[in-house]
This record gives sequence, C-alpha cells and structure tokens, in this order.
Amino acid sequence: MFDVQSIRKDFPILTQKVNNHDLIYFDNAATTQKPQVVIDAIVDAYTKTNSNIHRGIHTLSQISTTLYEQARQMVQTFINAPHDYEIIFTKGVTESLNLVAQTFGEAFLHEGDEVIVSAMEHHSNLVPWQIVCERKGAILKFIPFNHDGVLDVEAYKNLFSEKTKFVSVVHVSNTLGTVNPIKELIDIAHSHNVPIMIDGAQSVQHFPIDVQALDCDFFAFSGHKIYAPTGTGVLWGKEKWLEKLPPYQGGGDMIKTVTLEKTIYNTLPFKFEAGTTNYVGAHALGVALKYLMNIGLENIQQYEKELMQYATEKLSAIPQVSIIGNAPHKAGAISFEVAGAHCSDIGMILDKQGIAIRTGTHCTEPIMQFYGVPGTARLSFAMYNTKEEIDYFAKVLSTIALMFE
Ligand code: PLP
Repeated sequence: MFDVQSIRKDFPILTQKVNNHDLIYFDNAATTQKPQVVIDAIVDAYTKTNSNIHRGIHTLSQISTTLYEQARQMVQTFINAPHDYEIIFTKGVTESLNLVAQTFGEAFLHEGDEVIVSAMEHHSNLVPWQIVCERKGAILKFIPFNHDGVLDVEAYKNLFSEKTKFVSVVHVSNTLGTVNPIKELIDIAHSHNVPIMIDGAQSVQHFPIDVQALDCDFFAFSGHKIYAPTGTGVLWGKEKWLEKLPPYQGGGDMIKTVTLEKTIYNTLPFKFEAGTTNYVGAHALGVALKYLMNIGLENIQQYEKELMQYATEKLSAIPQVSIIGNAPHKAGAISFEVAGAHCSDIGMILDKQGIAIRTGTHCTEPIMQFYGVPGTARLSFAMYNTKEEIDYFAKVLSTIALMFE
C-alpha cells in the first residue's frame, strides 16, 4: 500500500514553512528532497566509519570500502544490470554523459562520422556531443519532435547512414515530461549495429528500469534527482563497451601498475573511477535506492501518474494557462505558460505563497527555440507530493493569472 502521508514523514524538509506558508515543493526535476535514512547514512558515515576506500588495510577503510561496494550492488539490483563491475560511480549524470562522449569519441569517432541525439536533449546530452563532434570533425544529427513534444520515430529511422556511430537520447524530457519510446529507439539503433546511450536523469525516480530488458548500451542517472545526495551519479555500460573505451581521467585507483614510462589500467569499474570518489555519497545513494525499492517503483509510478493527471486537469481548467508538451505518455514534469505573464513573475509570486516551481529554459534552450518562448514555468513531482498541494497551487495560480489579464 502506498501511503503518501507516511512517506512525507520521512522527509524532514517538507515540514518547513517558506515565506510563512507550508512548503509546497514542485521543483523535483531540478533536485529531490532527501529522506531521513539518507541524511542519517551521511551523518553516520562521517561520524563512525569515514576512511578512504580501497587503499587501507585498517578496519575503517575496510568498512568504508564495503559500504561503497554494497552501494554498487544496490545500483546493480535497482537497474537490473548483469554485473556490478559495469556500474561506474560518477558525480552525476552530466559526468556520466561526458565520460561516454569523450571516451567513445576519442576511440571511435572520425572525420565525417555521425552521432544522433534528439532535439529535446538537456544541454548535458547535447553540448558534450557538440564538443566531441567539433573536435573530431563528426556530424551531429537530431531526431525532431512535433508540437505535442513527441519524437518523430520515422524521421529517426531516416537519420541512420553507414556513417552513424552512436545514438544518445533522453528517456524522459525534463522540460516537456515526454516519456520517449526508448525500447523502440534502442532496437532501431541496434538494427544498424549502432550503440545507444539513455539519459535516465528523469526516469529512474519515476518508474522501474531494467537495462537488460531495454538492452541499451549505456544508461546514466544522477543521485540527487532520486532522493540521494548531490555529487553522486551512475553510469552503467555493457561490459563489452566499457572494456573498449579508453580511461576518462588518470589518477589514483584507475591504475594497476605505474612506471614512469607506462601505466597498466585497472579493471572495471575502477578504470573509470580515478581519484577519491564521493564514497560517502555513493553509500547514501545505495541507501536511497533501498528505501525506494521498499516502497516499490511500481507503486510510485502509479501514484505519480495520478498526480500528473490531476495536475494536468487542474491546469487545463485555468483559461489563461497553456501547457507546453502534450505527449500521450508523460512523467514527472509539466511545463506551462500563463497568458500575458513572464514565467519568472509566475515563479516569484508562487514563491511568496511557499510554492517552489522552476522557471526558465530548464537547460533545454533548443526546446524553447522550437516553441518560440523565452522560458516556461515547470511543475515537477516526486512521490511525496499530494493532490491537496496541487489544489492549493491551482487556486493560487488562478488568482495570479487574473492579475496578468
Ligand atoms: N539530463 C536531464 C534529462 C536532466 O533533467 C538533467 C538535470 O536536470 C541532467 C541531464 C543533468 O543533471 P545533473 O545536473 O544532475 O548532472
């Protein structure tokens, strides 16, 4: 049974007042709040077990290492990865995406080669590919989307050529909320023998992920968007690809042996984890994932689906509001505009009522260019949000909308 009131009790920040109002936190696509178990895991680690991992024979170092490696196994279970050594801890999805763009680009991209991304990528799955394509003289191609915010799969099929070397696509758009048909996109890429990476920054927290069922080649997400600390992230990759990629950064831990002339690199996953990682954060990420598995991702998905439907109905009932992105399959986020108002004004006025939403381009400027808007207001949900919060938000927004008529 999914009990939102009991879940809310796990998140101490939600009991705060902001600007003398009960906090309503609708900015979860930017970052989620942290449950007490995650906060406790961090405090406990620094209070009792802190010691650098992998290098020490002393007790604390061994405990710290065990916690870190257990977290890796938790991630493995969470996304159903075949092997724990395919899980690379990073500082976030941005680093995961850059890691693949840089190393794949270095090893496999040549002048005239082609990479496909969608036109709805977050900047962090666009700019790294722009950088590497420019450096290598490769060409970046874009899967278009229609006015509803739905990717054009037929156009995607036509983007492939003999020169296509890689595809990287966002699973759920942080701006439009669109859930892309990634299984179909993955199968199409593979029918051309092209590897594909999925940016799961906005999907892992909303529904179950099974990388083996998806059969993607890489999957990336950030810890802080899934109830875990900032500065944590994951890159999962198929062993066959991770083995082929060169190291991303050099330093401690990613080496097996070093002489002044030559280094033999460490095995997976350490080859991609140079230097002291955020091992306390990774442990807390493992704790967050365990917490979510206890609640059940299917339960979260079902509950959040109701929230999305409810909020869409409420917003649609306000005449001055138009929703941007009306894909049939959405999760997590709803972007909207209020007639006559700049989105920042909407955000500022809502904030005075204790309601936190995000306004602006959401690191997706090409989407704003497509719709011809300077920015949008965005509601984004987590499992601790309620219909009562949406009711209050809709009431306040209706009043604000009248002010701009
Ligand atoms: N990709 C998507 C779809 C996102 O929504 C975000 C953040 O909003 C990112 C990538 C980048 O995430 P981070 O800043 O945690 O690296």
